[in-house]
Order: sequence, then structure tokens, then C-alpha cells
Amino acid sequence: MPKVTETVLEIDLNALGHNYRYLASKVKKDTKILAVVKAFGYGSESVAVAKELVALDVDYFAVAYAAEGETLRDAGIETPILVLHPLPDNFDLIVNRCLEPSIYSQKMLDAFVSYAEKQRQHAYPIHVKFNTGLNRLGFSEEDLNTITNKLEKTQAVTVKSVFSHLAASEDVSEQSFTRTQLERFRSISEKITARLPYTPLLHTLNTSGIINYPNAQYDMVRTGIGLYGFGNHPEETSKLRPVATLKTVISQIHTINKGDTVGYNRAFTAPKTMRTATLPIGHADGISRAYGNGKGWMSIHGKKAKIIGNVCMDMIMVDVSEIECEEGDEVIVFGEQPTAGELAEAVQSIPYELLTAISQRVKRVVCRK
Ligand SMILES: *Cc1c(COP(=O)(O)O)cnc(C)c1O
Repeated sequence: MPKVTETVLEIDLNALGHNYRYLASKVKKDTKILAVVKAFGYGSESVAVAKELVALDVDYFAVAYAAEGETLRDAGIETPILVLHPLPDNFDLIVNRCLEPSIYSQKMLDAFVSYAEKQRQHAYPIHVKFNTGLNRLGFSEEDLNTITNKLEKTQAVTVKSVFSHLAASEDVSEQSFTRTQLERFRSISEKITARLPYTPLLHTLNTSGIINYPNAQYDMVRTGIGLYGFGNHPEETSKLRPVATLKTVISQIHTINKGDTVGYNRAFTAPKTMRTATLPIGHADGISRAYGNGKGWMSIHGKKAKIIGNVCMDMIMVDVSEIECEEGDEVIVFGEQPTAGELAEAVQSIPYELLTAISQRVKRVVCRK
């Protein structure tokens, strides 16, 4: 890669391809793969990522909101797209752009069926979501009869899939809870399938579910974080490659004396003569203030440069006393080293949060490494 001259987020499509193939190797031949590309592809670049996944033969996409699906359709993506969290105001957008809503409550089912009937739709694909323990979105098992009664009375929609979402698939200490969720899903999907005159797809595993519960793959798995390079434990993560690398540069180097302070509120006081580097990245770019005051660090020429003082909106100061470097040198915020997971851990966060926080101000550079 050419040396960067500003803050950029590099999106490595070859890493994405590697991760996709690795995850696909864990999935049974007949099981479809749904790629989750919500939140700009976990903070990367959803269109470039989706196009690459189409080339890799992905079966399905999922986004959280209808507008995210619209972006993919505008870019010419024709693969089916599941909208995980549609809201009634988006029904026009959903149907106009052939997006497929997750239907998670009686109210949503009634509203979408009436809408589809009014639009004279026939067999419009919907995905029925059941709550098996996450207690976020989804029907409960007791709703089965009302759901199937409603479905029997309409030709406007068809159940393309029945699905659920695990609460703690990455957590080995929660295995018995996860098994209970899987058992509930098995029971629900058997009952609903028996009542429908056709066979919907069944799916319930996310990335760590694919790794930890290979027997529950059903007809499709939904992978998000794994595609972007993170598994549920270090051994799995070591087999994946980070898709996103956040880089910045050194804007200025200062030598400061013992007792001098750095940054807003004078949060850092130099204990001795030090060298600091000022970087053009701040909390407006997605590196939260939580990383300030020694918690977070970045990599300069392979060495650890700790953040000193408070993170500003547009800038961060790091300690480069022990690092040979000059103005214009490259800084790795996260990527191979530190990984987004390691950096996130410094503030008790997770790679999902750090990756998706990188704001749209940061230029995305799509590449193949
Ligand atoms: C975000 C999401 C996923 C993807 O989960 P990962 O842990 O990133 O693989 C799968 N299913 C649903 C319902 C989601 O909301």
C-alpha cells in the first residue's frame, strides 16, 4: 500500500474473500450463507463489500434498516436482502426496492399483510422472526396459531424463512442457555413448517454460532463479524484477516518539558522531558474519549504509542518518546497490530462497536492486499 497522507480506513477485499472462504468451509455444502452488511458493512464500505461477496456467490444479504438495503439496490445488487428491523414507514421503500422484511410482531404482520394486499402483491417474501431468549425482537412460540391463521387467509405474502437470533453464542459459559434457545427454535420451526403448505428456510446462527454450534446450521447461516475478521476467540480470529485497517499520520511532533501539560483540561502532565506526536484523528472520527489518558494506543513503526491526555474532536496526542519517528510518518490505529479487538478491549468494548463507530468523515480506500 502507498504511504497514507491523511486518516484513511483501508478495506481489504482479499481479506474479505479469505474470511468468506474460511467461514464457508465451516458450513455444510447445502447450507446457504447470508452476509450481514448492516451499518455500512460493520463500518467498512457496504457496496464494495457486497459486490465482492456477490462475486464469491453469497446467497443472501441482511441489513438492519430499509435505507441500507436501498443503498445496495442503487449500486445494482440483485441478491435477496433481508431487512432485520423494518419499520412501518418503510414499507413503500421495502416493496419498491424488493427488500424482504423481518416480521417480528403481530402488529407488524397485520400491517405488512394489509399493505401487501393493498399493493396487490402476490407471495411477497417475508421472514418470520421468533424470540427464543434474546428478548429483543420476535414473536413468541404462543403466537404460532395467530400467525398461521393470518397467513392462511392471505395470498399476498409468503414465508421465505423462519429465524431466530442467539443471545450468547460466543460464550462457552452460556452453552446450556444457547442449547435451550436452539431447542425452542427447533420446536417452533417444526410446528410452523407443519402448518405451512410450503417449506420456508430456517436459520438461527450468527458467526460464533457457526463456530460453536455446527449442528444447528439448518438451511442458512448469518455471518457478520467473521466476514470482517473477528471470530469468537483468539484461535478463530487468528484464522481470519482484518478487512479494515485504520491509518493516520503524524501531523506534528513536540518536545515538552517536565511539568508541561498536554491537551484540553491539561489532563496529562509530563513527568519528564518527552516527545509527543499529534495525529489528525479524534472522537469525531470514532475514537471515543474513553481511549484517552493512556487507555488506548496506536502503532508507529511497530511500536506502541500510548494516547496521552484527552481525545479531542479532531486530534489525538500520543507519546513517542521512545519511538524514532518524524512528521508525516504513518500510524496504525488498528488493523493487524493492534487489532480492532485489542484496541476495543482497552476500554471494555468489542470490535463490533469500534469498527462501526468509524465515522463517515474518514475516507474509505478499497484495496486488495
Ligand atoms: C447483526 C446480526 C447478525 C450478525 O451477527 P455476527 O455476530 O456479526 O455474525 C446475525 N443475525 C442478526 C439478527 C443480527 O442482528
